[in-house]
Amino acid sequence: MAVLRVAVIGSGPSGSYSAQLLTEDSESPVEVDVFERLPAPFGLVRYGVAPDHPRIKSITTSFAEVFEETPGVRFLGNVMVGRDITLDEMRAHYDAVVFATGAPLDRSLGIPGEDLAGVHAVREFVSWYGGHPDSDPQSFTLDGLRAVVIGVGNVALDAARMLMLSVEELRATDVPEHIVNAFAASSFREVVIVGRRGPAFAKFTNKEFLEFLDVESCDVIIDPADLELNPEEQAHLDADPAAKRLFSSFRKAVDRGLLGRDRRVRFVFDRSPVELLGTDGAVSAIRLAQTSDPSVTETLDTQLVLRSVGYRGKALDGLPFDETTHTVPHVESRVHGGDGVVDGVYIAGWIKRGPTGVVGTNRRCALDTVTSLLEDVSAPGRVSSASTAADVDDLLESRGVHVVDWAAWKTIDAAEVAAGESVGRERVKLHDRAEMLRVARGNGLDVR
Ligand code: NAP
Repeated sequence: MAVLRVAVIGSGPSGSYSAQLLTEDSESPVEVDVFERLPAPFGLVRYGVAPDHPRIKSITTSFAEVFEETPGVRFLGNVMVGRDITLDEMRAHYDAVVFATGAPLDRSLGIPGEDLAGVHAVREFVSWYGGHPDSDPQSFTLDGLRAVVIGVGNVALDAARMLMLSVEELRATDVPEHIVNAFAASSFREVVIVGRRGPAFAKFTNKEFLEFLDVESCDVIIDPADLELNPEEQAHLDADPAAKRLFSSFRKAVDRGLLGRDRRVRFVFDRSPVELLGTDGAVSAIRLAQTSDPSVTETLDTQLVLRSVGYRGKALDGLPFDETTHTVPHVESRVHGGDGVVDGVYIAGWIKRGPTGVVGTNRRCALDTVTSLLEDVSAPGRVSSASTAADVDDLLESRGVHVVDWAAWKTIDAAEVAAGESVGRERVKLHDRAEMLRVARGNGLDVR
């Protein structure tokens, strides 16, 4: 039986689930090469999931088993598809290609002042504290008193919580030591989280909101006037049990009142950002208008503004792209251009359905992708790729690409655990890409 050769681009949740499901569900023997542009695997699980959410991150144990225990599955880290190997080459070397490249861009607010220093997409902040190799370790200094986070999704809560956690709580995570030190030096005492609609339409989940009530150093403030519901909001709560549960937690927070803690997070609803004001090129205030009555405005002093208004997919070289949804158009996960299906090319995860859902949502999404792929390759008369894993290795080597394979990644992984032990922590992430590559090479492992 011919070997089925598949390339998966991206080792985040949807890429890792795709690799796992391909090996489980394929009737013919399968080889899966998972390409990753970073020297470390797992994408948003490693670099996006909040550091104080180790239970969500523990899914990496099951993803690691795919790379470690499944013959034919390889990790090719530090390889940029589109630069180191083209889509046409991919299609020549594999029977099928699955893009699981996520949504790496940000949405903007489209208001004056967004280019002021101190105004950031939340992704930049998340990447910084997550030790993402593309983020400059010096990008945030956390000088200021009040931070404002625009948007009421789970990412907004992650970012706000990180600003509130104590040093002890941060030291229990894997964030790099210099990031812990930056948070330790933070002078921020208040975070204001701004929802443009009423509290009934908050997008974050109840569990994540309740976590805030457990952050020991922080009071949670909601103005009871913000909880007065209009008929539309009431109807929404009546129709959506999850929203209703969250709304009762808001009441619980109001009833709890202030506990005299030295930091506070304040939720405001029905407020839209209108303008960011600056002093000497840096943000110093934000003007908000009541969404239901824009003539009512207020100005809050702030030294850090994070736009947490959703991520955005990025067009991929050689593939169609929908500029409205920022996703790659598809029919049942098969990439679909104006002229029909792009043969042998599939998508999974956020590049397919947009930036929604939790990590586990990607399993269902990847299953749909793998089902379509396996259906196509089992069609009678299909000609298999004559290429081999060695051919791909030769191509990358001829271009001087330093592939971080699984063994090399494990060396980086071990170095992070050792770095943690040296400072009494479980793990400390390496932040710098060059250092990660040095560590992998220094151990004589297979970094080509
Ligand atoms: P999200 O859930 O889509 O939230 C985006 C927020 O931005 C919404 O409140 C939205 O308000 C607001 N917004 C959009 N445009 C705006 C504008 N121009 N002005 C003001 N507000 C604006 O996105 P996310 O927080 O980035 O999360 C992405 C996905 O990851 C979600 O599915 C989330 O649940 C998931 N996630 C899960 C966890 C977890 O499970 N712990 C953690 C992080 C992320 P409207 O509703 O009015 O549009």
